Amino acid sequence: MSDLRQRFFIEDSPVRGEVVHLEEALQTILAQRDYAPAVKILLGEMLTATALLASTLKIKGRISLQIQASGTFKWAMAECNHLGEVRALADYEEDPHFLVGEDSSTILKSLVSPVLFINIEPEFGERYQGIVPLDKENLAGCLMQYYDLSAQIPTRIVLASDHQRAGGLLIQLLPRNSEEEQRRVDEDLWPRLTPETEALKFGCTCSKERCAVALQQIGVESIRETLEFQNPIKMDCQFCNSQYTFTAEEALGLCGEHLS
Ligand SMILES: [Zn+2]
Repeated sequence: MSDLRQRFFIEDSPVRGEVVHLEEALQTILAQRDYAPAVKILLGEMLTATALLASTLKIKGRISLQIQASGTFKWAMAECNHLGEVRALADYEEDPHFLVGEDSSTILKSLVSPVLFINIEPEFGERYQGIVPLDKENLAGCLMQYYDLSAQIPTRIVLASDHQRAGGLLIQLLPRNSEEEQRRVDEDLWPRLTPETEALKFGCTCSKERCAVALQQIGVESIRETLEFQNPIKMDCQFCNSQYTFTAEEALGLCGEHLS
């Protein structure tokens, strides 16, 4: 298994951690667009980070990292869900700075008015969005600072990526408030926790049903306007290149309308 996440514990120590390795899934994602070398490295780090952070969630749903900026680099996003499915996408204009890169700092340095969001979307329940300050040199540094400040759990993150593979490590110091609590964790909790290996894979959550919801949201007027220049309506998923087609009858039917 080339794509995996492994949890580990250190005996007699309040430390937990995760290791992530991505290879096939990363190559599948990077092959979907003709990305510049530095963008490939950034996406590898972002994917690894979401896979690491997803392990800290106790909910079913997905976690994503999203960069938005206004220079030649426009945006990037990477996502991992509770099934270990990852996907990512980036958009930018050609820039000679993106042709070489060692780590995510190449892109981060080039960003104009950037914002880095961390989104947590449970299957059920409220979404959470946090803003991660981009004032460290690389992605791992920014995320560590965010976790130290927001979750107040001392966290160390290491990310590495090239055009073929990406990997990372997350280590957290667990809070222990008393000796009694420490004893309970050492004697009771640790022995019951078996380090488990989880498979990671490329996966896209798009579907015709989701496209139908998007069409319903834009409304019947916009659907009629779209049909004037595109009939049937074709919707592409940028993540996996799937295409979904809606005939005029289907598209209007979503809003309870008929061909007139
Ligand atoms: Zn898709």
